[in-house]
Amino acid sequence: MDVMLSEADTAFRHEIRGFLAESLTDELREAGRKRTSLWQDIESAMTWQRILDEKGWAAPDWPVEYGGTDWTLAQRYIFAMECARANAPALVPMSLKMCGPMLIGYGTEAQKLHYLPRILSGEDVWCQGYSEPGSGSDLASLRTSAVGEGDDYVLNGSKIWTSYAHHANRMFALVRTSTEGKKQEGISFLLIDMHSPGITIEPIINLEGVHEFNQVFFDDVRVPKANRVGEENDGWSVAKYLLEFERFSMASIELRRILGKAEALARATEVDGGTLADDAHFCRQLDELKIDALALESSEQRVLASLSAGHSPGAVSSVINTLGAETIQRADELAIEVAGYYGLPYQPEALALGANTAVGPDAAVTLMPSYLSNRMRTIAGGSSEIQRNIIAKAILGL
Ligand SMILES: Cc1cc2nc3c(=O)[nH]c(=O)nc-3n(C[C@H](O)[C@H](O)[C@H](O)COP(=O)(O)OP(=O)(O)OC[C@H]3O[C@@H](n4cnc5c(N)ncnc54)[C@H](O)[C@@H]3O)c2cc1C
Repeated sequence: MDVMLSEADTAFRHEIRGFLAESLTDELREAGRKRTSLWQDIESAMTWQRILDEKGWAAPDWPVEYGGTDWTLAQRYIFAMECARANAPALVPMSLKMCGPMLIGYGTEAQKLHYLPRILSGEDVWCQGYSEPGSGSDLASLRTSAVGEGDDYVLNGSKIWTSYAHHANRMFALVRTSTEGKKQEGISFLLIDMHSPGITIEPIINLEGVHEFNQVFFDDVRVPKANRVGEENDGWSVAKYLLEFERFSMASIELRRILGKAEALARATEVDGGTLADDAHFCRQLDELKIDALALESSEQRVLASLSAGHSPGAVSSVINTLGAETIQRADELAIEVAGYYGLPYQPEALALGANTAVGPDAAVTLMPSYLSNRMRTIAGGSSEIQRNIIAKAILGL
């Protein structure tokens, strides 16, 4: 990366490093370092978002007129890399990465004016109401009904796997407004106030033992028709547009984070008079993953370039999603193997903020929870099989 930096980029990186050194408290860095899932603990995420928002950097990839930046492609990448290097907390993706870009592309002027500033400031935290019991991969079969009554829709049904619904005050959701014709043609896209009467949230505890997702029930919930995005029964187009943003992430940065841990652990592990980092088999596995990270990074940069030009990521986001998820899972496996015994104990108490009770090397504490959590990467946002179907149809024309 350094070799490619121009003088201006080097100065920009210096500015970002200065900002991070000044703004990231020890607590925020610890939270970032101990994050083991895609989602950060909500307090750290929102504290960090407010700091970024004050600086105008909460959503660098949004267009300038809506509160984004006019950074070049290299600057966007440098910012993301430096935040990761400094262990900055992750932000809530449903708000900044999904709902914001969707509103910029499809919202009315009134919706943009109302919601975008509230997303940037963190006043609104969004969750995603797409999946339902029985409607995951076959999302268009969803049944939560929205029946028009005067100026409102009345909603009945249920959403499942709703990440952070218990922290969110808003949900963007797909609902059925017609049962006529093709199932994709009877879906509308709504913005819902999570405090509306008739909404109940039940927790679902994940494999890691953590409460991240939920089931949400709607019982005669009234939503103003003005909260619809796009035309009635045309919500499928909005949904697919949003998914392009959801499926694009800079997974190569997460990948490097895991490989960095694996390498550090290997250097600290003595074997036969040397360290594991000198072992030919380990080196080959590590180098293969580093090459894959580099290839992934190039693809991510192409998407970043199209975002800078004001376009949506397109179907290539399914390629990035699949490659990123599967490579991260391979990297997790290598890291666990390197940690050996220390990769096995699951130490949730050592992950608590402020705790310093790790058994074994510090880097090993996050490995098993991350490994467990990252199993979801080939499911959430559409499973790898579904992404491959999209790639076959939309990119290869099969
Ligand atoms: C951690 C996590 C967080 C999530 N957060 C949210 C959220 O916030 N909001 C939300 O709406 N949803 C969320 N989801 C749900 C996610 O979108 C669904 O889990 C996903 O779309 C898969 O649906 P499913 O779980 O119903 O699996 P199913 O659709 O039942 O699939 C089961 C298996 O069958 C395979 N399969 C199904 N159909 C096909 C096909 N046509 N061709 C080949 N293989 C197929 C799948 O690949 C999969 O392996 C989350 C999921 C996870 C794991």
